[in-house]
Amino acid sequence: MINPHIAAMAAYEPGFQPPAGQRTLKLNANENPYPPSPLVMDALRGITERELRLYPDADCAELRRELAALHGVDERNVLIGSGSDELIALLFGAFLSAGDTVAMPYPTFTRYESVAAMHGVRCRYVPTRDDYSVDAEALLASGAKALVLVNPNAPTGLLLPPSAMADIVARFAGLVVVDEAYLDFAGEDGEEAWSVTELLNRHHNLLVLRTFSKSYALCGARVGYGIGGETLIAAMHKCRGSYNVNTVSQQLALAACRDRSHMLRSADAVRRTRIRFAAQLCRLGFDVVGPSQTNFLLCRPPGGRATAICAELAARGIYVRHFDAPRLADMLRISIGTDAEMDEVLAALEVLVS
Ligand SMILES: *Cc1c(COP(=O)(O)O)cnc(C)c1O
Repeated sequence: MINPHIAAMAAYEPGFQPPAGQRTLKLNANENPYPPSPLVMDALRGITERELRLYPDADCAELRRELAALHGVDERNVLIGSGSDELIALLFGAFLSAGDTVAMPYPTFTRYESVAAMHGVRCRYVPTRDDYSVDAEALLASGAKALVLVNPNAPTGLLLPPSAMADIVARFAGLVVVDEAYLDFAGEDGEEAWSVTELLNRHHNLLVLRTFSKSYALCGARVGYGIGGETLIAAMHKCRGSYNVNTVSQQLALAACRDRSHMLRSADAVRRTRIRFAAQLCRLGFDVVGPSQTNFLLCRPPGGRATAICAELAARGIYVRHFDAPRLADMLRISIGTDAEMDEVLAALEVLVS
């Protein structure tokens, strides 16, 4: 009864969710340690009975208008999804067919590989270099129908600079998907990082994915958005559910957008903690992949004892991410929490590695 390619595929594994009520330190899913804007909480309290009784705005018109203005594009270049997760599914449905090939660096966000498998699309992993930097020439030479670049990349944390991104977008004839889920953590000293959305007026083969989950601290609301060439976005609109983003989430995302300075302050706090924590890990003898431009660090514990340390931390209620995969099996990915939380992790690690 089950499609053979579905039966054959491995299910995507999200970060472990500790049982509710247990006091834990959850640093395994790159969630934001700081709350969303107070305006978001006001919007939540302001939801009316009527708004729950009626269907949501099918076009997410207000949110799209706000995001179009923010990125300097037309509303027709913007599509809202129930998390970028939904947008990833939509883009495979709209642009790729069984037997097509999509190329992406390895390692990267494995959600793309899972969704490719669901659609019978071949995923061609192009290895990153020894230092995990992306090999752009190899990606361009892959002959794939589409490229996916998570920038900054997960789980490495590394950012491809604007010149490299511009070069890839200009030279690749097919679809280029750039997932900027973590870009808000990449700026320096209050300066926002350059986004590939700047290239949209010249390159219509570009689809950029953003999310409210990480920097806006709204993982639970499930709102992501795509910005891309008008024809690409129109095709994805055709594939989506009519009411794919619920009323509450639309309003929360809108409120979050209208208080960007709150988001920028919290991203800045995460950035400072990340720099401090990376230096402390090095002092404990960890090899830290870097410089991370995200809200997590990929690091190799002394002796590569990642599996054991992950389990020992979990026994203390501290959850970090371990990937049982090539080039990652001896590494840990640790999300950046508050300074106090990272001090707690550090104290535990100090005991475990000594
Ligand atoms: C967390 C993450 C997302 C966000 O997914 P949502 O479905 O919007 O929560 C997208 N891409 C990458 C690479 C991520 O790590």
